[in-house]
Amino acid sequence: MERGELLRWLTEDRDEALRELWLRADTVRRDTVGDEVHLRGLIEISNRCVRQCWYCGIRAGNAALTRYRMTADEVIEGAQAAASLGYGTVVLQGGEDPGLTREWVSDVVARIKADLPLSVALSLGERSTRELATWRRAGADRYLLRFETSNAALFARIHPPGTDSAVRDRIGLLRELKDLGYEVGSGSMVGIPGQSIADIAEDILLYRDLDLDMIGVGPFIPHPATPLGGTLALSGEGQAPATELMTYKVLALARVCCPRANIPSTSALATLNLREGRELGLMRGANVLMPNLTPLRYRVHYEIYPAKACIRETAQQCHACMQHRIRSIGRHIGHGAGSATQRSFGAGVPAPGRLPFAGSQHRHVPTLKPGPPRREKSS
Ligand code: SAH
Repeated sequence: MERGELLRWLTEDRDEALRELWLRADTVRRDTVGDEVHLRGLIEISNRCVRQCWYCGIRAGNAALTRYRMTADEVIEGAQAAASLGYGTVVLQGGEDPGLTREWVSDVVARIKADLPLSVALSLGERSTRELATWRRAGADRYLLRFETSNAALFARIHPPGTDSAVRDRIGLLRELKDLGYEVGSGSMVGIPGQSIADIAEDILLYRDLDLDMIGVGPFIPHPATPLGGTLALSGEGQAPATELMTYKVLALARVCCPRANIPSTSALATLNLREGRELGLMRGANVLMPNLTPLRYRVHYEIYPAKACIRETAQQCHACMQHRIRSIGRHIGHGAGSATQRSFGAGVPAPGRLPFAGSQHRHVPTLKPGPPRREKSS
């Protein structure tokens, strides 16, 4: 799919026409990554951060935030919970926190890899080549670093350099991660103030150019303690909307353009539509969910944007909820690491054990069954 067609879809608003896009994305998803939904246990290990990203609530400038950094034992406990819930992967995410030293992260990764049957993904921001290489050697399998927007001028504006004032080239860093042997995840936000629909088409083309193993996409959600927190910032002409619909379009187009990638239905999407955002994401291209395993006492403080979905549920509740949602749309939980690079089949080739069946183009997208009882507010 080329730029022109991407733009046509991104500006299409008729339900009838969009149904074709949803069906196309769902068909590609089923034929390449299958019906399995992989669960990645997310542990938000630190909300300390030296950066001043204009969009992010845990930016260094947010003095109102209570800061935390989990201990190594707490992280290991989280990983044990992931393993005992049957997840194949644990994701350790955090702010750009120099207190998460090269040695500390390396030890934690090595302990998890030694004791638990888990794939380890790190998402700790722009770290040095030396750190990234050490963590890879310690056993880290994946690294997630969104490029946020392919518009270089916009990225530079909303993403001032760190205190060491070294400007890192994120796209270059993603290529470096690949050379180090990581499975690489990246992605972008939808509807950043100053981002146009044409920018979003370029984001999708960049997912493909980077040949990403994982693609994370979510709507931009303004955080009042950030420079982009005001609603006025969202009202410029030609502005890409930070809506649920636009996010589904980007998910669907990402699936069509990058068939074998792992694509999560994100919490930011669930935050816009608690009742069925996750399911609709899964039905429009996504094949991954990321249940939150961060201890509750810390979770509320990992406030990258306000009113985040699922901040008050225990790991078990979150698991049960995700399981229910997956089953309600006729899918099942995936086993093992669910690695994009280890898939032995390529784009457009049916998954093993899955026969192509005639008429798949005309298959109906499953309708939503009622989800689990909805908790008020932040559930
Ligand atoms: N420090 C790490 C992890 C950041 S949080 C890093 O920089 O990679 C993970 C993702 O949350 C970010 O990459 C960004 O895309 C998303 N995010 C941050 N603030 C957001 C906001 N206000 N609305 C929506 N998504 C946001």
